[in-house]
Amino acid sequence: MSDVTALYHLQNIAKTFRMDGVDVHALRGIDLTIQEGEFIVLLGASGSGKSTLLNLLGGLDRPTGGTIRFGEKDLSTFDEAQLTRFRRAELGFVFQSYNLASSLTAIENVRLATEIVVDPIPAKDALEMVGMVDRMNHFPSQLSGGEQQRIAIARAIAKRPKVLLCDEPTGALDVGTGVRVLSVIQEIHEQIRPTIVIISHNAVIGDLADRVCYMSDGRIIRQECHSRRRLASELQW
Ligand code: ADP
Ligand code: MG
Repeated sequence: MSDVTALYHLQNIAKTFRMDGVDVHALRGIDLTIQEGEFIVLLGASGSGKSTLLNLLGGLDRPTGGTIRFGEKDLSTFDEAQLTRFRRAELGFVFQSYNLASSLTAIENVRLATEIVVDPIPAKDALEMVGMVDRMNHFPSQLSGGEQQRIAIARAIAKRPKVLLCDEPTGALDVGTGVRVLSVIQEIHEQIRPTIVIISHNAVIGDLADRVCYMSDGRIIRQECHSRRRLASELQW
C-alpha cells in the first residue's frame, strides 16, 4: 500500500554498478517510506550501501530498478536537468569533507548557496543558528574541522531545504567536536523541521533519531523507532 502523506516513498530500489565487467549490487531491493519532518539515522558497516541510498534520496544518482517518489514526483524517471533542479530547490547536503570554497569567507560560502533560491534564510541568521556568527569573516583555513562543518551545515540549511542529507558528518571529527556538530543538527531540526537523514557507522548516533534503519549488504535489515530521542550531549560514546 502506498502512503499518500509520505514525503519519500521508495519501492524495491536496486542499484547495480558495473565495474570492469563485474556487477556490484550496492542496493538489493529497498522499500522505505519517510514522513515529512522525520529524523532518520542510517546505520551499517562500510560498504553496506548507505551512501548509495543517500545519493538516490538526494537526486545525485538514479536507481537501476524500482521507483523513488518524492511527494508527487517520480525521481526515478527524472533526467539530469530535472534532478539538478530538484536538488537546488529541495535539498541540503552535508558530507564528511566540508567542501567549503577556500578562497571565500564563512559568510561568503553560505551566501553562495542562498543566491540560488527564492526564500533563503539570511546567511548571517544561518551562521547564528550554528553558533558561528562571530567567525563569519574567517576563511576555512582559519577554522577548525568542527567549525568548518558548522559552516557547511549553515550553508546547507540556509536554502531552507525540505530535506537535509548528511553523510558521516562527524566522520573526521573527535568525539567532543562531533557532539557539538550533532547538537547543531538537532537544534536545526527543532527550529525549522526539515526531514533529516544522517549516515553513520557509530550505533550511538542512532539514539538521536526518530527512526534507525540498519543496513547490511544492500538491504535494510531492521528498523527501530524511538518515542523519545536523546540529546547529542547525553550520548555515551
Ligand atoms: P557505505 O556508504 O555503506 O560504506 P556505499 O553505498 O558507498 O557503502 O557502497 C556500497 C557498495 O557499492 C560497495 O561495494 C561499493 O564499493 C559500491 N559502490 C559505491 N559506489 C560505487 C561506484 N560509483 N562505482 C562502483 N561501485 C560503487
Ligand atoms: Mg558511505
